Amino acid sequence: MDPIRIAVVGMGKIARDQHLPAIAGDTAFSLAATVSPHDKGIDGVPHLESLEDLLAKGPAVDAVALCTPPQVRYDLAKMALTRGVHVFLEKPPGATLSEVDALTERARRAGASLFAAWHSRFAAGVAPARAWLADRHVTSVAIVWREDVRVWHPGQAWIWEPGGLGVFDPGINALSIATHILPRPFFLRRGVLQRPENRSAPIAADLVFCDTAGTKITMDLDWRQTGPQSWDITVETDAGTLKLSRGGSVLTLPSGTEHSEDREYAGLYARFATLIRTGRSDVDTSPLKLVADAFLRAKREIVEPFNE
Ligand code: NAP
Repeated sequence: MDPIRIAVVGMGKIARDQHLPAIAGDTAFSLAATVSPHDKGIDGVPHLESLEDLLAKGPAVDAVALCTPPQVRYDLAKMALTRGVHVFLEKPPGATLSEVDALTERARRAGASLFAAWHSRFAAGVAPARAWLADRHVTSVAIVWREDVRVWHPGQAWIWEPGGLGVFDPGINALSIATHILPRPFFLRRGVLQRPENRSAPIAADLVFCDTAGTKITMDLDWRQTGPQSWDITVETDAGTLKLSRGGSVLTLPSGTEHSEDREYAGLYARFATLIRTGRSDVDTSPLKLVADAFLRAKREIVEPFNE
């Protein structure tokens, strides 16, 4: 079978750190081009300044991986899907829920695959955590996602703009795991969003959700964390405590701790290849819905300005 010719669009941090190595390591794909307005691309691979140019002039592609900020992703995805090109959407899949719905419908009509990728769901501990929790009674859940924005997002102006999600840019990864491993759906009851007075997006959030059986789920997000960083989900059950730490890569069960090699992006590309080969899409918007609900339902507090 011929490899899927793919272009990486948006040559920023995640494209270089994860997408290019994952594509290079997967024989189902061949890197046909890179696209980015201010980047030089990589040796030996055609580079274009815009997706429009790529689709007009070639080289021919079967698929694109959109690694841009979310605010520009809808227009790019629409352009690709309209030409029957399969689309991999980095997380979050869009800047609004309605635009993601519109893309899903467009993919269906075009007969192209649309993949809303949630990389944290492919972290090593997540599938075993989901299996372990499937027949447990959950009594409480605590999500603590505290990191230093200056370390992880230096110079990313878009992340503070409307549609950039602020602290929910990492926080949505926690929600992508929680919506995948917890046995019941959950929704927001109350919360507080803290927004620096000079920014459009929150720097911290304190949220309380509950699931459909009334189980409490708390979420503590903070971008001002210096020193040790936390990306932890702790689930109390009738059979003891499950803890996923380091963003889902380390799983601790009452029987012990498991830590496996990082395969998140290899897993995402294997899934994307399967979707394309079988003519399907995979667009789960549940993590983005919970973020949208936080913007709808939580109180606002203005906090001190944030300067890099
Ligand atoms: P980033 O470093 O700011 O890179 C984004 C790139 O998109 C920029 O380099 C920019 O290219 C390019 N771009 C902007 N508009 C474009 C357009 N219209 N066409 C083509 N390229 C365009 O951001 P990032 O950290 O890689 O994050 C990108 C997305 O991946 C975000 O949604 C983020 O949530 C997600 N993500 C990030 C990480 C992470 O660890 N950073 C992890 C997982 C997922 P130019 O520089 O050429 O203008």
